[in-house]
Amino acid sequence: MRLSWCWPSRAEDRLESWLAQRHEVRVLAGETTPVGPCPDEAFLRDLARRAKRIALSDPRVDHAANCPTCMSRLFVFRQGNRSRRRKMVLAAAVAICSVVAVAVITFARYGMHRQLTSANLAVVSETVNLWDTGTIRGNQPGSLQSVSLPAARVRLTIILPRFSPTGQYAVSVTQDQNGNGVVAQQTALATINGDHESVSVELDLRAAKAGAYFLATTHEQDQASYYYPLQIR
Ligand SMILES: [Zn+2]
Repeated sequence: MRLSWCWPSRAEDRLESWLAQRHEVRVLAGETTPVGPCPDEAFLRDLARRAKRIALSDPRVDHAANCPTCMSRLFVFRQGNRSRRRKMVLAAAVAICSVVAVAVITFARYGMHRQLTSANLAVVSETVNLWDTGTIRGNQPGSLQSVSLPAARVRLTIILPRFSPTGQYAVSVTQDQNGNGVVAQQTALATINGDHESVSVELDLRAAKAGAYFLATTHEQDQASYYYPLQIR
């Protein structure tokens, strides 16, 4: 007796499958005579799982193939195996979905992070026109127009007050008008555009909290600093 009846799901030969079904009907109707005693449950479970360690020449296989009791048990185990396989497939599908979801979330966050990072790295161009502005020299108080800059990386072009000397300038942002608490500082050569003189520096103000500061310009030879009230927003 061929044992293809054990695996109807793999039946490639429809005739063989049909013969196996006919055989099952006969066995379950008690029309066959099994030889030997019923094997234990562990053996029947292994047989239902098609465990490799079971040799088809084993007389217990032949018994199970002809015993209505053993065949009924095999059906039950086979059903259990199928539903277990379905559960495993479902669990695998859920696991794959979770991995995909985590990947999607990670990529979304990464994209957001990149956007934030590029926003953080963006350089904002600002021009401050001090052409007609008076200055506070050293500690001298004075009423001046207030300059406002964002808390970002700023490419700052300062149009220097009239009659400013040419040469190199240090531009700094400080917390007071004595030059204390320097937030950022850069030096650059002043350039002449027509009758205006300007100096361009890049200041990193990302770490600065919003509030009142001073913008200072210091000429390399003069060494006197001119302070302008500054708001960082
Ligand atoms: Zn039996």
